[in-house]
Amino acid sequence: MSESYAFIGLGHLGGNLAASLLRNGFAVTVFDRDPTAVARLVALGATAASSPAEAAAGAGNAITCLPSPKVSEAVLAGPGGLLEGLPKGGTWIEMSTNGRDEIIRLAALASAKGVETLECPVTGGVHLAAVGKITALVGGDAALYERHRPAIEAMCAKSFLMGLIGSAAVIKVITNMLAFIHLVAAGEALMLAKQGGLDLAQSYHAIVASSGNSFVHETESQLVLNGSYDIGFTMDLALKDLGFALGMGKDFGVPLDLASRVHAIFEQGKEAYGGSAWSTQIVRLLEDSVGTDLRAPGFPAKLEI
Ligand code: NAD
Repeated sequence: MSESYAFIGLGHLGGNLAASLLRNGFAVTVFDRDPTAVARLVALGATAASSPAEAAAGAGNAITCLPSPKVSEAVLAGPGGLLEGLPKGGTWIEMSTNGRDEIIRLAALASAKGVETLECPVTGGVHLAAVGKITALVGGDAALYERHRPAIEAMCAKSFLMGLIGSAAVIKVITNMLAFIHLVAAGEALMLAKQGGLDLAQSYHAIVASSGNSFVHETESQLVLNGSYDIGFTMDLALKDLGFALGMGKDFGVPLDLASRVHAIFEQGKEAYGGSAWSTQIVRLLEDSVGTDLRAPGFPAKLEI
């Protein structure tokens, strides 16, 4: 019999991950503080619970996809939290992006109650999560990973076991750091093309086929050229991840000149457009300072597969 799961945190990412579990026949019990998010998943076949503890008690395992380490801790170990509901031998799978020290500390809290932890942050964006094709970065015990592999594979096209708890947090922060650096660089590249008198659509396609291409250029530059900027990922989340990266730089003694500069640019972006603005809007800083936008016909408002 397949495992069943509680799923807590049904936002831009978590809502799509939980829907993938349902599509693949898993029994899913959901909780979110936003009733609209819960209703969306109930319409797809999920059962609603009135607290994380209740959801976890019924399911035996729990998955979280929450905005910050503080919220993850409250949902795991606070009143009415998962540790009040999960049975001994149950598993907590943390799919939020979390810091290394944070996930190690939270896994210890779970372990003290007989609950095992798998960290499973994901990468690739909401459009890939929507079709079950996002990538999972996994940290934890290899046998536990095998036990939950069917569920992970229902949500993710690829998964990489990186090592013990904490190792997935490190690679996740590294890949997001690269993505934000690439995003700022793609904006600068497109602005040079525009001010150099080039056709922006043709420039986009030329870069895709060139040595300067990146996953971020292929995907997010399209949203810049459309003008929607709608990547489903916010400035606040970008700042959280860049903060983790700078913290790791300090801890591991690695100077991160580029990441520090990009962190400062995102602080400026938050100041200008707010923490809940899409992270892709970081390119607007350059559009506003140069006084021209980066629009071209033929690009989608949302990424499609
Ligand atoms: P989101 O803000 O869209 O969703 C968070 C959800 O958590 C919301 O539905 C909110 O109501 C719920 N929530 C907040 N506090 C809660 C609480 N105390 N109890 C229950 N529910 C609560 O965020 P998101 O974009 O889905 O991101 C979630 C996590 O995934 C973050 O850690 C983010 O860094 C990570 N992530 C996001 C993406 C992406 O493309 N959006 C990609 C990779 C990783």
